[in-house]
Order: sequence, then structure tokens, then C-alpha cells
Amino acid sequence: MKLFGPLALACLSAGSALADDTLLKRPDVAKALRWLETSHDKTVAAQITIAEIPAPTFHEAERAKYLEKEFRRLGLADVSIDKQGNVLGWRKGSTEDTFVIAAHLDISFAVGVDTKVRKEGDRLLAPGIGDDSRGLASLLAIVEAMDAAKISTRHTLLFVANVGEEGLGDLNGARYLFNESTFRAKLRAFISIDGADPSRIVTGGTGVKRYRVTLKGPGGHSYGNFGRPSPIHAAARAIDRIADLEVPLKPKTTFNVGRIEGGTAVNAIAEECAFEVDLRSVDPGNLDRIEAKLFEAVRLGVEAENKARAASKATLSFDMKLVSNRPAGETAHSSPIVQAAMWAAGANGFRPELDFSSTDSNIPISKGIPAVTMGGGGTSGNAHSLAEWYSPVQAWKGPQTVLLTFLDFDSRRP
Ligand SMILES: [Zn+2]
Repeated sequence: MKLFGPLALACLSAGSALADDTLLKRPDVAKALRWLETSHDKTVAAQITIAEIPAPTFHEAERAKYLEKEFRRLGLADVSIDKQGNVLGWRKGSTEDTFVIAAHLDISFAVGVDTKVRKEGDRLLAPGIGDDSRGLASLLAIVEAMDAAKISTRHTLLFVANVGEEGLGDLNGARYLFNESTFRAKLRAFISIDGADPSRIVTGGTGVKRYRVTLKGPGGHSYGNFGRPSPIHAAARAIDRIADLEVPLKPKTTFNVGRIEGGTAVNAIAEECAFEVDLRSVDPGNLDRIEAKLFEAVRLGVEAENKARAASKATLSFDMKLVSNRPAGETAHSSPIVQAAMWAAGANGFRPELDFSSTDSNIPISKGIPAVTMGGGGTSGNAHSLAEWYSPVQAWKGPQTVLLTFLDFDSRRP
């Protein structure tokens, strides 16, 4: 959802032009930006190395170990892997106020996926090559650039390669950081580097709820036991109702039955059928309403199947399990981190666009901690599909924009 056009420039000029000019004139900042550009090939090589270590959600350990090693090599302090599996590394500032820069370890693919990177022209192809290997490589580059330029900051920086961003990971890495880590009270702001396009600044978390619906019945032979209720038929009746649900265009609210499974043979009445539903809205009230409609659709679908097969005296049971719950919310466009991100994108020649999406930023935003999700540079496409591609054209502008965002935020008076 594109939320603004010319407004961006208006906000920008009303922002912090003075402080920002000062920032761009600082020799250490200029040096760090140059470092990011001249180290472009190295950053892309790191991205490929990372992408080739498979890391499906809940199986991020091997990639985490690699990032842990890299964090140590770059000299971050107190490098560790927390209980959830997040890799943490610190860069001390003059205060304990902590600014988090994160990228996610996990990829949205099943265990066993081939993550070998192929080159086709100027494109790199592999599942996860952009999402979020680019973010992880950008994160490493930012650490190195800051050290090469000897940049000191007011905020302490916490670099995080986090688990559980994709699918049923349900943002569990970011959730752990903000809800359970021992240092959570020190966390002041958050950037997730995710996606590619540096002009896109995600300020809002789309709310997401996901359900796994399981229907069960007695099963039986398709011919011999004909007349018994079928969990698959009931699921079909329910999904037919779901498909017709009415949702508003604004605030954008969506539904999708993304997976279905069940049954054992074509000549057997299934004993079980399950399907998974993804509901999203930028508005928490609308998310609750579509959730209520989903409950109703499933109840009616099962009821209709039981009624149609009432003569058999057998009935179906069903269960709906909430498997994912990502809160909706938004960082105000006037907040310093959004202003900083818009200025930084503009300073790098981009026309910033504020957007809504479900990312790790949902978690800090839901706790009132300012957060944005920003691109790692370059362009990409077909994310979450085996045909995912990444093109590293001027990709250094990604980490440059993120670094400038942080530095602008950091240089403002507390
Ligand atoms: Zn991602």
C-alpha cells in the first residue's frame, strides 16, 4: 500500500535538513559511505555465501553459527546466540540506549531445498538470495564500514541475525528480543533490513492471524460406507464460504487458504483433513472481524456436511488452532526514525515511499518502540518462490541508506 507521494518531500524538508547536512559533511561518515560502495563486490560475495547455507524457519542453526563467526571476526562485543537462536553482537556507544539493526536468518522454504546460487546475466538466483541474505550481508557490511571509518555513536548498537521471521516462525526471534531478553528495557529503536528497494520504508506492521483448521470423522470405504460425513467435503464446504467472504479494500484486509491436506486414498472417506488460513489487515478491528467470519464459515461448513449425512448418525469434529499472531501497528510518520529514513533515502537519490507489510518490525511497533523495515539495496523478485532472483545493481545504496538512517537518528538530541 503506497501511503504518500509528494507528502514525503514536504515532510523531508520540514525535517532535519540542518543536522543532516552536518552529518553528510562529517569525514568519518563520508568514509563509511565510500567504504560501502568500494566493498560492494565483497558484500555480494558474502550474500552468496550466506544464501548457500540453508536456513528454513526452525532450522536456522547452521546459518546462525556462520553469522556468529562473522560477528566475532568483525570484532563485535559479547557475541552470543540467545535461547531463541538469534545471533547477537554489540557495538558500544557512549550511552546504554540501544538501537537494534537486524536481518532475518530464516528462509521461507522447506527443509532440503537446494540453495546453490546460480548466475544468469547480472542476476543471482536461489531461494533466499534476496530474502534475507541481502539483509544479513548488509548488516555485516555496516559493521565493517563503521569500524573502518572509526565512527563513534551515542547509541549502543545491537546487531541481530534473528530467527523466525518467515511463515510459522511467527516473528519468534524479534518477539524474544523485545519480550524476554534480559536487556529488553534498553531497546530504543529498531531497523530490520529486509527486502531490497532502498526507497521503500515499511513503517507499519500489517496484522496477521493464521489458523490451522483440522476436521475429523470416522472415515470408511468410499462405496461400502457411503453416507458417512467426510472431513474433506466439509473442508470444501467451509472453504467455499471463506472464498466468498467480503473484505474492505481500505483498510486493506485479506484472506487466503494457503495449504490443504488430508485423506489417504481415492476410494476412502477421509478420516482427517486440515487446511491453513492466513488473515491480514492493517487495522486490528478488521482483523478481528474477518477472524470471526472465518470461525462462522468453518462452523457452517461442518454443520452442512453433518446435516447432509445425518442418516449415518456419524458426525465430524473440528478444531481451529491459532498458529500465528502478528500484531498490527504503525510507527508515526513524524517520528524521528521515519524522518531519518526518509531523509537518508532522499540523500541517496531515492524518492522515499512509506509502506505497510508484515515484518519483524511488527513486534517493536506493537510495544510502542519506533521501528522501520528497510531494503538492503539492489532489486529482487519472486521472493518465497524457487525462482527467487536478486540483481545487485547499485546495491551498496541499501546499507548506505540504513547506516545514514541510524546516524541521523543517533545525532539528534535525546
Ligand atoms: Zn524477509
